Parts: sequence; structure tokens; C-alpha cells
Amino acid sequence: MLEEMGIRVWEDRARAVPFGPGDGTPPPPARRGEGEAFASPGSAPGVDGPGVEATPPGRPEVSTGDAHDVASLGWDELRAAVAACTACKLATSGRRQTVFGVGHPNAHWMIVGEAPGEQEDIRGEPFVGKSGQLLDNMLKALGLGRRAADGAPADPARQVYIANTLKCRPPGNRNPQPDELARCEAFLVRQIALVRPRIILAMGRFAVQSLLRSDEPIGRLRGRVHRYAGVPLVVTYHPAYLLRNLEDKARAWEDLCLAAEAAEAAGAALAARTP
Ligand code: URA
Repeated sequence: MLEEMGIRVWEDRARAVPFGPGDGTPPPPARRGEGEAFASPGSAPGVDGPGVEATPPGRPEVSTGDAHDVASLGWDELRAAVAACTACKLATSGRRQTVFGVGHPNAHWMIVGEAPGEQEDIRGEPFVGKSGQLLDNMLKALGLGRRAADGAPADPARQVYIANTLKCRPPGNRNPQPDELARCEAFLVRQIALVRPRIILAMGRFAVQSLLRSDEPIGRLRGRVHRYAGVPLVVTYHPAYLLRNLEDKARAWEDLCLAAEAAEAAGAALAARTP
């Protein structure tokens, strides 16, 4: 069916469940202007073609507003540092709680989104609203999920890790602001370093802005494999954007297939290096 719709099917050993346009989720009201184009002040191109290292240069010093050296923290300390963070105005602009991240601590796949919305702020978990339902369906189509299947053991190959660029909800779901992204960045950097994923899926313009330092539109960045600190990274549309632009779901599926191929290649390279 996917092939008839012009959607390339990625064949996985784990028998992928079809995902495609028309998952039945009604489009929510527009939020945060999830368009393709964006400009990030002072951004530098940090992208490249397949297989070429392109870690963004000149990653700025990040102040999280406390004495912690975030770069050396373990999971528990990092979670506590995020929960205690008051480095930007989001700490006092109505957040109920911080939203850290969810999934396998050494997942092969890491998904990076934007910022918590209302549901995430209430539940303390990323992507639990309408966007999250779509994200879960997209992952399910590849045999992936944020939790181990009922009764199944935890499996880093099947369980993803999901985090956002911001750990606090911007009031009224407004766009993240540059100072907020800068102050929160060290937490995401440390999460990626701890997870050590084989593939990063950057969803939407703010994830791309944070990780690739690029002001290129999503439409121009998707379709190839970038690198973040040596980790293959694939850019795709944010689920909230897809809910309003159903015609781009087929492209998102292509992006997932590309990410799956890159993850598999990374795994093979890893295996080849292991004696
Ligand atoms: N959108 C995001 O980018 N992240 C969430 O956690 C929820 C919605």
C-alpha cells in the first residue's frame, strides 16, 4: 500500500508496521510556526553530504546558571540539574515541571524535538500530546518505540531515546528564544553524549538550529546524512508540522528510511571495529 502511495518501504528484519499519510489524527491548531524556513542569528553552515564529518564549529559556551559542570554529569545528576535549573526565564514563566527525556539510556536512535507543550508540561515526558501520538506511530512503523514492548526486555536497538532542545515549556507554546536555547543546550549535549546513539533524528527547525547551526530550511537539509559530533544525523519535519501538512508525511517516511539505513550502517561500522 505504501508503495502505491509512492512511499519507499524500508525493509527491516523486525517487520516494519506500515506508517503513512492518513493516520487518523486530526490536525491541531497551528503552534509555534513549524514552517520550513527559519533564520538563526549568527548561525553557521555545519552540514555536509553523506559520510563527511561536519560537527558545527565554535559551539558556544553554555551557562546553565549553576556551578555544575554539566559535561561530566551522569544520568541521575543530569536529571537533578535539569530539575533544579533556573538559568532562564522559563523557570519562572509558569512551567509545572521540567521535561527531561524518555527512553533507553543507550538507545541506538535518539530523537530530538523542540520544547515541551502543555501535555508534556503536565506529564513530565516529551511528546505525549498529538505530536507525540504521531511520533509514536512513525517510530512504530520502523519497529521502534519509547518503551520496551509489554513483557519484552529493554532493547537499545528497539527502544529510542527522546529529548527536546528545551526542557521547560515556553509560555503559550511560543517559539523557543535564542537565549533559552543557548542556556539549555548543555543538557541536550550531555544527553547525546550519554546515550551515544547510532543515529540522531532532528525534528523541526529548532532541533536543527541547535544541533547543526544551520538556517537552511528543513526542506533543503533533509534527504542526506549530516553529522553531529561524529554521530550520523538526519533532519526531518516536526510532527506538529506534519499534522498540519499531511502531504509532507511521505517525505517524513523517506527521512525515517534514510535514518534507518544510516543507523544500520553505523552499527555495521561499529561491529567491524569490534575485535
Ligand atoms: N513538541 C516537541 O518538540 N516536543 C515535545 O515534547 C512536544 C511537542
